[in-house]
Amino acid sequence: MNAPAPDRSSDRSLDPEPDPRRALPSVEQVIASLRAIDLPHALLARIARTTVDRARASIDQGERPAREAVFAEALDAARRLTTNLLGHTVNATGVLLHTNLGRAPLGAPARAAMLDAAGAVNIEYDIERGTRGSRHDHAGHLLAAATNAEAGMVVNNNAAAVMLVLAALAAGREVVVSRGELVEIGGGFRVPDVLRESGARLVEVGTTNRTRADDFFGARSPDTAMFLRIHASNYRMVGFTEQASISDLAGAGVDVVVDAGSGLIDATTPWLDTVPEWLHDEPGIRQCLADGAALVTFSGDKLLGGPQAGVIVGRADLVDRCRRHPLARALRADKITLAGLQSVAWSYLENRVVDEIPLWEMASASLASLHARAEAITRQVPGAKIVTTQAAAGGGSVPGLTIESVGVGLLLADPDTAHATFRTQRIVGLVRDSMLIADLRSVDPDDDLRIAHALADLARA
Ligand SMILES: *Cc1c(COP(=O)(O)O)cnc(C)c1O
Repeated sequence: MNAPAPDRSSDRSLDPEPDPRRALPSVEQVIASLRAIDLPHALLARIARTTVDRARASIDQGERPAREAVFAEALDAARRLTTNLLGHTVNATGVLLHTNLGRAPLGAPARAAMLDAAGAVNIEYDIERGTRGSRHDHAGHLLAAATNAEAGMVVNNNAAAVMLVLAALAAGREVVVSRGELVEIGGGFRVPDVLRESGARLVEVGTTNRTRADDFFGARSPDTAMFLRIHASNYRMVGFTEQASISDLAGAGVDVVVDAGSGLIDATTPWLDTVPEWLHDEPGIRQCLADGAALVTFSGDKLLGGPQAGVIVGRADLVDRCRRHPLARALRADKITLAGLQSVAWSYLENRVVDEIPLWEMASASLASLHARAEAITRQVPGAKIVTTQAAAGGGSVPGLTIESVGVGLLLADPDTAHATFRTQRIVGLVRDSMLIADLRSVDPDDDLRIAHALADLARA
């Protein structure tokens, strides 16, 4: 076979253009240009290599990237990586349980307990007998005590708790759920999908807006494993609505399991003077159990105010089946989480909730105290104003109900760009009415000075 004659019309040898790859900086030169960035050499090398590779690839696409642009792009990537490293970030958004900012902040006792557990701890060791113990004997047991449940256990998060309960108690059997509660909770937690993945069969009853106890009872069969109630959390129906209550469903010979979501230990909030308006309708774990729920699951880092975890409390025989299921091993919580949760449970048992759990301190802070903090900040920031804001619990709990709050606002020509600068100081606020605002209800008072300095820099710019 003859090769086709080479096409001479595009032969560059007559009109030599320097290879544009030669104009690019070398990987070593790019690494050297990043010297001032405080990152391990291996990371700088990775950024340099990726940037140079990308520039080479763009040449193959017919582009002619400038040498300076390659240096600039690498510097940008290195800065972005540095800024986005996991680290303390001030939550001045007014959303107390901000999922993207780590939900509930932990107080001094929980932090100390977690630090203490970083070394060797008796996570599965019975100190008294000198034998293997259970990782459910500490946090799980204390949370059961705090909720008046027979038993409790802790897993990685509430999604895992729901998955484990369904897999352990309902695989291959039927789970009856109201159509009004087949919801998607933020971050892709879709009740029908979780049910299917667990191996349970979903039996939908009622309608989107109204489901009665008789709808559940009518779906009962020898294959029914449980009646499942799911708190709609970040979703709310108003108007002509009805859901079967736990007490209506309990006592019909089928276990009632409740995914309560946010982990409000007691709907009467005995740790506060009064039940706040914004908690309206949020189910209390103690009340769910007292009403007859056989098991209740909830998050550790929402209204409980602890670290990320999922808690299962309720009847001992059912909790035991969850503990013994193979998935429990895959979904288990680590020693540091368990130490933090043990501390949080202790705070509830000792009724030191507002003093020791920052979420409740923030939620119940008086407007006068927030105002005083705002005043102290505005004194340090030329042009700053005290503004009224609406904070929120967030974290999928209590949708639509806000908590009156106070912020510090700065009127700016370009508040969005100012907010970007603010964020590089690791403070996230909000922009409203051409103002950059720091809502103080979600801020640890220890961070007020940091906010004042960052705002003062923006005011002077
Ligand atoms: C938040 C929530 C979940 C998911 O909990 P994670 O701890 O985030 O996994 C599940 N169900 C309900 C009702 C929730 O509110």
